[in-house]
Amino acid sequence: MSNYKEQQDKLIYQAQLDAVTQLPNRNQLLAHIEKVSSRAKYQNLYCAIVFIECNQYKSIHDFDGNYRGDPLLYDIARRIEKIKAEHDFIAHLSGSEFVAVLPDLHKQQDKATEVALEFTQKLDKSLKEVFVIEGKEIILSCAFGIELFPMADCNANDLLRQSQKAIIFSDENHFSNISFFTKEIEEKIQKRKQLQKQIHHGLDNDEFSLYFQPRVDIEGNLIGAEALIRWMHGSQGWVNPSEFIPVAEDSSLILPLGDWILKTAFKQLAEWQTIGLPDTFTRLSINVSPNQLLQVGFTDLIKEYLESTKVDANRIEIEITEEVLINYKALAINKINRLRELGFCFAIDDFGTGYSSFSYLSVLPVSTLKIDQSFIADLMQNENQQVIVTMIIKMAQSLKLEVVAEGVESQQQLTFLIEKGCTQFQGYLVGLPMAKQEFQTLLFKKT
Ligand code: C2E
Ligand code: CA
Ligand code: CA
Repeated sequence: MSNYKEQQDKLIYQAQLDAVTQLPNRNQLLAHIEKVSSRAKYQNLYCAIVFIECNQYKSIHDFDGNYRGDPLLYDIARRIEKIKAEHDFIAHLSGSEFVAVLPDLHKQQDKATEVALEFTQKLDKSLKEVFVIEGKEIILSCAFGIELFPMADCNANDLLRQSQKAIIFSDENHFSNISFFTKEIEEKIQKRKQLQKQIHHGLDNDEFSLYFQPRVDIEGNLIGAEALIRWMHGSQGWVNPSEFIPVAEDSSLILPLGDWILKTAFKQLAEWQTIGLPDTFTRLSINVSPNQLLQVGFTDLIKEYLESTKVDANRIEIEITEEVLINYKALAINKINRLRELGFCFAIDDFGTGYSSFSYLSVLPVSTLKIDQSFIADLMQNENQQVIVTMIIKMAQSLKLEVVAEGVESQQQLTFLIEKGCTQFQGYLVGLPMAKQEFQTLLFKKT
């Protein structure tokens, strides 16, 4: 009889296990957190939830499907099990998400924090070691969110959600991929949500506009402009793009916002063409975010704007980041090549801040490098920056790429850059970003 009962229990337990990883699922996890939490309240002990997210799983699954995705998840589960202590509890939620519950860590919060951190660092180290899945080597980078509990007024669901929220900010943390949940994180998330609503509202209410920053050659001729978005918020006044663009990029809002930018820039160029653009003006640069470029139908959208506005595609330069070219090489290059066939050209924005290497640059379908302004900012005080900038200019020359120095603010910087062979410049010295009317006056100035 007891044998039968044992068998029954085992079957019930197995039915609740996740088929791929053989770990408990979300329901079991939530029940377990409730149990541990009520016991800890009674014993006055701190426990921890560690939320684990493996960043590359999605692209591996998208590319290789379950063939490699499933064995990878299974192996990750075994590595976590190896690190865990006897009474720790491990569960698999979905896709790349795992959770560890560490019970009864310590009576003092700081000591409990230390133990949870030590566990997570050990886990991080183990998960960084190479996985060999069906003959292919895979290196993962994971993010970890930690929540200490029990916490007043929080049930298991709240605790789990908060540990996951901590992860959102682990990628903003430059020193570590491990983040603890704090009240400030909750506030930041609320602010972000509010800003997203306001961006949406701003789009509906026509609060955005495009400014144009001049690009000049060695003689100071206006050879192009970069379109930069500006937001005059109904009640808060100007909001900085560095504040709202990353928030839009983090949600799908970058798609309608990016679409608005493209549409407005195309229309503007068409208007200027009708007035009669000077021959020297050859580049209107438009910033395109990674998710915007990667979205399905991006090339068709651009084609549509090209046909409806009849702009000269050769006069449009699309600025993208190195990051999108590295992480989504095949997809990005495919889209870029299709647009290049239509006449558009491409620039790498903020060049020098990413993985820039000579060998990969030589195969990328771009025609321009824009040296990141951080290299120019203290160029005259920092010899290392001088060496880097000189190397970038030389590299661009030998690859027959155009090179633009961004953020040029002083005559000294300009002289240095010209001496090293740079031929195009952008920055406060040559012109601030300007509203349409002001820029037009400059553009159509009779000399
Ligand atoms: P970015 O693409 O690197 O744009 C250059 C930024 O440097 C602009 O800031 C510009 O105003 C500023 N800048 C120009 N010259 C100087 C200078 O001499 N010194 C200094 N210190 N700064 C200078 P802004 O307009 O605030 O934009 C910040 C970032 O926001 C942009 O960096 C870009 O990443 C993003 N952004 C702006 N407009 C758009 C857009 O239309 N679409 C997308 N996807 N991103 C945009
Ligand atoms: Ca840019
Ligand atoms: Ca830039």
